[in-house]
Amino acid sequence: MNTSLKIIRAEIVSVGTELLLGQIVDTNAVHLAQRLAELGISVYRRVTVGDNMSRLVTALKQALSNAEIVFTIGGLGPTMDDITRDALAEAMGERLQLDPAIQHRLIEFFQQRNVTFPANNLKQALVPERGHPLNNPNGTAPGLVFEKDRKLAIALPGPPSEFLPMVQNEVIPLLRDRFPDLGVIHSRVLRVTGLGESLVEEKIKDLMRDENPTVAPYAKTGEVHLRITARALTIPEAEEIISKKEAQIRERLDERIYAVDDEPLESVVLRLFIQHKRTIAAAESCTGGMLAERLTNIAGSSNSFLGGIVAYSNSAKIRLLNVPPERIESFGAVSAEVAEAMADGVRQVFGSDIGIGITGIAGPGGGTPEKPVGLVYISVAGPDNSIKTTRNIFLGQRNEVRIRATQTALTMLKDRLLSCKDDIIGDG
Ligand code: ATP
Ligand code: MG
Repeated sequence: MNTSLKIIRAEIVSVGTELLLGQIVDTNAVHLAQRLAELGISVYRRVTVGDNMSRLVTALKQALSNAEIVFTIGGLGPTMDDITRDALAEAMGERLQLDPAIQHRLIEFFQQRNVTFPANNLKQALVPERGHPLNNPNGTAPGLVFEKDRKLAIALPGPPSEFLPMVQNEVIPLLRDRFPDLGVIHSRVLRVTGLGESLVEEKIKDLMRDENPTVAPYAKTGEVHLRITARALTIPEAEEIISKKEAQIRERLDERIYAVDDEPLESVVLRLFIQHKRTIAAAESCTGGMLAERLTNIAGSSNSFLGGIVAYSNSAKIRLLNVPPERIESFGAVSAEVAEAMADGVRQVFGSDIGIGITGIAGPGGGTPEKPVGLVYISVAGPDNSIKTTRNIFLGQRNEVRIRATQTALTMLKDRLLSCKDDIIGDG
């Protein structure tokens, strides 16, 4: 089905010493790459070159030998350091000629503004002998299309206010017209929690070898996203290719995949609480309310989330959550015993079905050899004294530890709800 798809290779050459110095970020190339992906054009390489003629010509020659289409970004202005036009002509062995219509428009542009026509600007009226200019209503430099030996080079201006409309209004129509049977590139993201990136990869390594669809893991704080990307003639065909791969991945990762595309974990958790008609309350120490904040971010959370207590000090744990003081004395505030007492305590205080307790050491200070920074206990208490506690050691700076703890708390809630089918039946 996909064998009929043509592969068009593209390269993007971004021009500008400012880019190399890190003074500006190459947002134009990012945008172009995304738009090309949507069209089914494969960007094989992106390079950045300073405003230097010989290095630019070398880079362009190389790009032209690798790819069918080469895009340049920037360096079409009137000043000395704007050399892309000349460099492309040299790399393609093309000559430039003056385009009278553009020249006329330039002169008019300056006349209207009562400015003497600067001789430098004349070079912006130069176009390739074989090729044509691209309209630029937002600036003085037209874009340029060079064509030779079935290769296409497209030069685009640097300022985003000129670049973005030119991509939209000139480049995309040109490419669609030139390559009508390119098909589409389409992707779907599987969101995985409760397994680290390397474990995920380990489990599905053999499923990641295909070229169509590709499967790429992206590690996020506390979760992994698997992006499945397919090329096909139509979106439904791409969806079909993706779904087959998704089914194979699900066989391996099972309920570790908590959502598809954009749904965040807290939204899945709340959905499950609502489905199972369960309520929840949270007792948080080191996460300082982050769990409550994520849950209440979701519209409709009031149906299930009754409330939370940030109990940071020992006395708050004792007074607000009824944690027995001797537990803190014997085991320390960061212990499984205290996490359990917090989970159970908050459940009683709010009268919720489920209570969750989180206590840990977010750092950077406060760690000991037995209880290092990143140690977090999380307890989920339910009806009938059922309680589950995990001992975690999270890596990262203070805030990352807090995010990972919150993420793990949500994962535990999800797992608790997925396993409570009996409860629902019991409820009638
Ligand atoms: P000009 O006529 O303004 O000189 P140009 O086509 O010669 O346009 P450059 O001189 O390379 O473009 O860049 C002009 C400005 O456009 C830069 O100072 C920067 O603000 C922005 N710019 C250039 N390249 C990029 C890029 N790749 N991504 C985002 N912005 C860019
Ligand atoms: Mg310039």
